[in-house]
Amino acid sequence: MVVTKEIRLLQNYLNSLSKSNSIGFVPTMGALHQGHLSLIKNAKKSCKTIVVSIFVNPTQFNNQQDLINYPSTLQNDLDLLKEVGVDLVFTPSINEIYGQDVNSENFDFDGLEQEMEGKFRPGHFNGVATIVKRLFEIVKPTRAYFGEKDFQQLQIIRKLVAKFNLPVEIIPCSIHREKDGLAMSSRNARLTKKQREAAPFIYQTLKVAKKMFGTKNVEEINAWVTNQFKNNALLSLEYFIIANEKTLKPISHKKTNELYRAFIAVFAGEIRLIDNISL
Ligand code: AMP
Repeated sequence: MVVTKEIRLLQNYLNSLSKSNSIGFVPTMGALHQGHLSLIKNAKKSCKTIVVSIFVNPTQFNNQQDLINYPSTLQNDLDLLKEVGVDLVFTPSINEIYGQDVNSENFDFDGLEQEMEGKFRPGHFNGVATIVKRLFEIVKPTRAYFGEKDFQQLQIIRKLVAKFNLPVEIIPCSIHREKDGLAMSSRNARLTKKQREAAPFIYQTLKVAKKMFGTKNVEEINAWVTNQFKNNALLSLEYFIIANEKTLKPISHKKTNELYRAFIAVFAGEIRLIDNISL
């Protein structure tokens, strides 16, 4: 497994491969877990060469404390990646990616960036799109793999690719969960024992909301979820939204032939957890 911080070395390696070689790319921020590995395993099914990037992208953090506290476990990450059979790991410095200008570009994603995470984390998606576009330009992957865990991000990356005509296929990957249902996340490592024990409540609530979606109206479900969290001492609800999968706009009534998803963001102390479920 090749590990490099340098764009030049990464490109030398990739240029030395046959032109017909398919490149599967999995961008990450490290502190890897089985959720990340599930993306890599997916990539290995249909790509010859697997590239993983580990880069904690400063421009997508609206909260500086979250950036400072973001877990970093590089040696463990490299061990996991070697075990699963990755060809190249790209671990650039901030300077290698941004030079002196550590800023996001401004993007227009036809409103997708205004909803949910876009509202609660201003500038987040400009940061995400800036880094993903830059990484695509560097790696030039055939396919890139993104988790539905960050469903809004996935839809925005699809829009980015369509708007800029980027020659890459985006492959969505289902949410990988702990046995008790908690969506795997690098941030879970920061939960206290008590918070960790409380956290599966998030997915349990989503599953009940999904059941209710068959019989109750959206307003009733929203009120029920809000109420569930009112009684929870360890988890506080930031938002719960039932939205159209394509537009990500919250709905008040369902229509036939549309796909819907419920999205949730919850704080356990300082730690912000997100999850979603297809309805
Ligand atoms: P991150 O390192 O958090 O930026 O995540 C890198 C990629 O892994 C993103 O495409 C995430 O959506 C994906 N990912 C993170 N957690 C999970 C999970 N539990 N299941 C599936 N994909 C995930």
